[in-house]
Order: sequence, then C-alpha cells, then structure tokens
Amino acid sequence: MKHIVIIGGGIAGIETASALTDAGHWVTVIEKDTRVGGKLNNWSYLFPDFTPAEKIAESLLEKCREKDFSILPDTEVKAIIRNQDKFNIHTSGNQNLEADAIVLATGYELFDARRKEEYGYKIYDQVVTSADLEQLLRPGESLTVAAGKNPKRIAFVHCVGSRDEKTGNHYCSKVCCITGVKQAIELKKRLPEAEIFCFYMDLRMYGKHFEELYREAQEKYDIQFIRGRLSEASEKIDKSLLIKAEDTLSGRPLKMNVDLLVLLVGMEAGKGTASAAFSCGVNCEESGFLKSMDSLLRSNISQQEGIFLAGSCTAPMSLNDTLLHARSAAIEVNNYLKKSIK
Ligand SMILES: Cc1cc2nc3c(=O)[nH]c(=O)nc-3n(C[C@H](O)[C@H](O)[C@H](O)COP(=O)(O)OP(=O)(O)OC[C@H]3O[C@@H](n4cnc5c(N)ncnc54)[C@H](O)[C@@H]3O)c2cc1C
Ligand code: SF4
Repeated sequence: MKHIVIIGGGIAGIETASALTDAGHWVTVIEKDTRVGGKLNNWSYLFPDFTPAEKIAESLLEKCREKDFSILPDTEVKAIIRNQDKFNIHTSGNQNLEADAIVLATGYELFDARRKEEYGYKIYDQVVTSADLEQLLRPGESLTVAAGKNPKRIAFVHCVGSRDEKTGNHYCSKVCCITGVKQAIELKKRLPEAEIFCFYMDLRMYGKHFEELYREAQEKYDIQFIRGRLSEASEKIDKSLLIKAEDTLSGRPLKMNVDLLVLLVGMEAGKGTASAAFSCGVNCEESGFLKSMDSLLRSNISQQEGIFLAGSCTAPMSLNDTLLHARSAAIEVNNYLKKSIK
C-alpha cells in the first residue's frame, strides 16, 4: 500500500485525502491548526446559494469520520528529505513519516487590511473586513455599530489588497466581488431599512449563478453599485465615517457618510504555504502562490517529482473550484503511483 502525506487540512486537503483513500491508498493529513476545515470554519452563509457554511463543514467532518485516513492536528512539517523515490517527513510533533508522494494543500491567507492605512482598519471601530463581517453574520451575532444602533448606511470597498500596485498584489482574488454581493444581500435581509453601496473598479462575476446574484442584488435588494475608487475614510465626532471617493464614470469627487465600511480583502499565499514550499523545494510564482508545471494540463503537478498541489495554495479560488482542483490532484497522484509500481 502506498502512503501519501497531505500538508494542509482545509477543504482541498480533506477532499484530496478522501479521494485517495477511496482509491485504496494510506493517507495522512498534517494540519497546523487544532481542527480541519480551514477558512470554511469562519464563514457564515456561502455564495452562490446561501448554504450555511456549518453544513458544509459538518459534511467535511463526516468524511473524516467515515474514511480511514489519519489526521495530525496542531502539527507542522519541520523537514522533508527525499530518499530516492520516497520522502522522509519530520514533524513538529517529533514523528517521522515515510511517504511515496506529498500533496501541498496549504491554502491562502487574508490580506492584512492595516496595510491600506487610508481606510482606517483597526483605527476606527466601524471599519471591518469581509472576513470580520462573516463572523458578524453568523447566527446569534449582532450587527450593531456605535451607541448600539443598527447601521443605516453601509459601504463596501472592492479590491482591497488585490489588483493593487502599491501592495504588489497585481492579481485578482476572484471571490471578493461575489463575496461582497452575498454579504450585501445578507445585510439587506437583516436590515431592510439600510442603504448599501458597493464601490468597485470592475465587477468580476465569473462563476455559475454569480451574475444572476449580482442582478438580484440590484433589482430585488436595491443595492447600489458605484464605479469608483475610495481614497480615504475618517471618523466623525458621532463615530460615523466620512468616506471620500472618485466616481470614475462621471469623473466627479464624492463624499458620503456611512455607519459601517466593509473592506473586501483579497487572498495572499501566506506563510503556511511559503514554509511548506520551502521544506520541499517547490517553487512559487511571483505572487507567492505555488507554481505548477503549467496552468492548463498539469496545474496539480509541481516541478518536484512526487509532489502535487491542491486548492487555493496555487491561486485564489472558490470552494467549488477548490473541490474540483482537489479531486484532480488525487487523480494525478494516483496516476503517478500506478506508474511507479511498474
Ligand atoms: C471573506 C471570504 C468569504 C468567502 N466565502 C466563500 C463562499 O461563500 N463560497 C465559496 O465558494 N468560497 C468562499 N470563499 C473562498 C474559500 O474560503 C476558499 O475557496 C477555500 O477556503 C479554499 O480552501 P483551501 O483548502 O484551498 O484553503 P484554506 O481554507 O486556506 O485551508 C488551508 C489549510 O491548510 C492549513 N495549513 C496552511 N499551511 C500549513 C502548513 N505549513 N502545515 C500544515 N497545515 C497548513 C491551514 O491551517 C488550513 O487549515 C471566501 C473567501 C473569503 C476571503
Ligand atoms: S474579485 Fe472583484 S473585488 Fe476581488 S480582486 Fe477581483 S475585481 Fe477586485
């Protein structure tokens, strides 16, 4: 029986583990956190159909219980040494594992919005990120702002830390436009009196049902989309925020008072991915995401033989795309192991 070690127990790592176990392999997942599931554990309702994230997380845990693969939580890789066609993996828990193949499924990290100082994140209480808002939208959480009031006017800013020369992140994070639409609808359902504005550079509704959801946001929920770039946010004496923007369609400057400002933060490759890549000599793109053999036919195969890639450690992607990428990683690993038996 072949042994595969998967580094990262988010949705990509667990889906790859499940598919490889079904194919008859022995699989171990190394996860640095206490629990598996990755970012999914932090979300409320999922685009495109508002399925509760808890439901998907529960089905993931069910998979872990049903299938016979091992999970090492609170564990990181210390060293990986190639020994002919095997790998020796030394972990922070002092285990030594021998593997026939490795899958990197280390996911992404959120852009640190403090780097866009002009938006006032962690300076003003009424500025939150899309990730913070996910927590506030979970059942039982309250959405009050200053003086315990419900926000009456809310603005979203797109492309925070993506498509941005200043931060060095030139790529599009792909899921934040639709996350903004999903969160704006969710807010409007809870606060029907609120006015909601989304400031965007371009709107990228690339996935199935995304465009329909964007239309619904405008037609059914009266959410206003303004093509404009926000220059700064400042706090007023009553704790509301004054935001300044340029309406790039009319070319006019614009000022607006809002009670809540939501920054749609992008995805970055992050330290977990960098350290896993470093341990096994896998290359990264300029963006920091992991480099595959090519983007079309071999997007799951790294440039190191026997080491494979799954999910958002390779590029920003939605849960659905992550699941598909993870399953294709399992097929590539399986083909590789079959060849190495001959
Ligand atoms: C605000 C926001 C809302 C979103 N909402 C949705 C939505 O509604 N619908 C949707 O389809 N998608 C949504 N997404 C996208 C979704 O979060 C990703 O598609 C998904 O999390 C990718 O899964 P992953 O397993 O590749 O990565 P992750 O979820 O990042 O999981 C990676 C795992 O690897 C572990 N890890 C990292 N480094 C190491 C290491 N060195 N050693 C061991 N373990 C390690 C991490 O702890 C983590 O558990 C949203 C994204 C954002 C930012
Ligand atoms: S998905 Fe939208 S908000 Fe996110 S980086 Fe791309 S264009 Fe900007």
